Amino acid sequence: MLGLMMNRPLLISQIIEYAAINFPEQEVVSRSTEGEIHRYRFVDLHARTCQLAHALEKLGVKKDDRIATVAWNNYRHLEIYYAVSGIGAICHTINPRLSADQFHFIVDHADDQYLFVDLTFVPILEKLQGQLKKVKGYIVMTDRAHMPETSLPNAHCYETLLEGEPERFDWPEFDENQASSLCYTSGTTGNPKGVLYSHRSTLLHALSVVAFPGVDFGEDSALLPVVPMFHVNAWGMPYFALFTGSKLVFPGPRLDGASLAALINDEGVTDTWGVPTVWLGLLRHMRESGERFTTLKHVQIGGSAAPKAMIREFQEDYGVEAIQGWGMTEMSPVGTVSRPTPSMQRRMSAEELLNVRGKQGRALLGVELKIVDADGKRLPRDGVARGELLVRGPAITSGYYENAAANAKAFDEEGWFRTGDVATIDADGYMEIVDRVKDVIKSGGEWISSIDLENEAVGHPEVAEAAVIGLPHSKWAERPLLVVVRNPDSTLDAKGMIDYLRGRVVDWWLPNDVVFVDELPHSATGKLQKVRLREDFRDFRFSDDRDNGST
Ligand code: ADP
Repeated sequence: MLGLMMNRPLLISQIIEYAAINFPEQEVVSRSTEGEIHRYRFVDLHARTCQLAHALEKLGVKKDDRIATVAWNNYRHLEIYYAVSGIGAICHTINPRLSADQFHFIVDHADDQYLFVDLTFVPILEKLQGQLKKVKGYIVMTDRAHMPETSLPNAHCYETLLEGEPERFDWPEFDENQASSLCYTSGTTGNPKGVLYSHRSTLLHALSVVAFPGVDFGEDSALLPVVPMFHVNAWGMPYFALFTGSKLVFPGPRLDGASLAALINDEGVTDTWGVPTVWLGLLRHMRESGERFTTLKHVQIGGSAAPKAMIREFQEDYGVEAIQGWGMTEMSPVGTVSRPTPSMQRRMSAEELLNVRGKQGRALLGVELKIVDADGKRLPRDGVARGELLVRGPAITSGYYENAAANAKAFDEEGWFRTGDVATIDADGYMEIVDRVKDVIKSGGEWISSIDLENEAVGHPEVAEAAVIGLPHSKWAERPLLVVVRNPDSTLDAKGMIDYLRGRVVDWWLPNDVVFVDELPHSATGKLQKVRLREDFRDFRFSDDRDNGST
């Protein structure tokens, strides 16, 4: 028997209408690409989003059309999110740090009709446009005064497009499974793969994030997404900030520690989300300047493992709760969040609590997790058994966009999505990532977690960043190499590093060599690029294995 309830669709346009009615005076503050701080209210956001929806229709944009953005986190980008999805078109956010080849590939693959471009990225697009033959036009996200001379064909000025358009729009109704946005995974190997979100998945994901125990976003909150809107919808923030009535603070192009610290304190930010690399920069600035956070309560760390030293520093030195989240583009992206339960808070020591925070955490409502062995058999939730992590849920991809080859490998027979991560799950439901399947170091048939080693290495006060890769070894098949970026003025040497790790990890995990570099390679989303690092060290031979020229 089916329930007797109205079958009303969940649509993104409902969020902006709801926000304008219930929180009309709440603010959106942006560091604009032109430089100055821009601020307006949710009612203004709503009015301009409606104007943009009219303008898009005038340009001939229809349901299902892919409309791309190449932009920083700012209020115009937010308007595009809502206007494009609201009319039933698909907001395709493009990562501007992709290589020219990847950029060209995804614009073509997505068949983008128009591209919204922030001022910063106009020169990149001018270089590429000869190849982007199918794009009908470009909209430069600025006002008349800042509109550049450009060789982009059919280039419009954003503010000119909006002028005179009505400030109300009758949002169309359609199936909640209608596609709403599109994001390509960074694709460390091969071409990027498109993940196509729906209105339903977007709302369910955003709702499940704010339903997580302990999350209390509301009208007194001020959320700063450092995580880019050009990647996985800034982890859902542009949606849940609006329906929780939270102030939104956008950093624009300035993501360095000093700029972020100023924005956080000036705008009374309570919660900020981003990847560990960004927080390294922020913490370094705080240490050097001696500044304090005045309003910040929580920092969400995701995208890569959050080093325990970072969690500890936020908590102990600044009184800011550091919360780890894990997820993937394919999962909208948040899958788990790590926060000790109230009962753990009561009974555990500070060190034990830190260990819990170091895990990737418990699943959001609607996300199911399982770990399996090499034969696909389920492993127990005992915190010890490690296996490949698979997931399913209503905000998890059911197949990449137009990519049969990738889809053939992405799911198991029961339809669960293969994350490519190796993990444990404990009896309390806390999942812990051991490593990426391809990054785990297979030493003499046993596994060494590169993440754990990196985590310990960055705990050394003189280490700024660390990466561990497995390289061939004639006796052990693979052994770990530790690559370290030291803090300025550090005199740390390989022996000092190994001595520090001894006792913190089991002896057979100790890296065979330590190499110091000025910088580590990062992907377009700020993650360590292990693939590139392995390439850089392709000819490296371990000092205890120098005769091994064959591997
Ligand atoms: P995104 O770019 O959205 O972060 P990707 O899909 O590019 O996501 O990468 C997802 C992968 O990033 C995960 O499969 C996992 O390996 C890694 N990852 C994300 N968050 C964490 C985390 N908190 N700890 C460890 N690894 C993480």
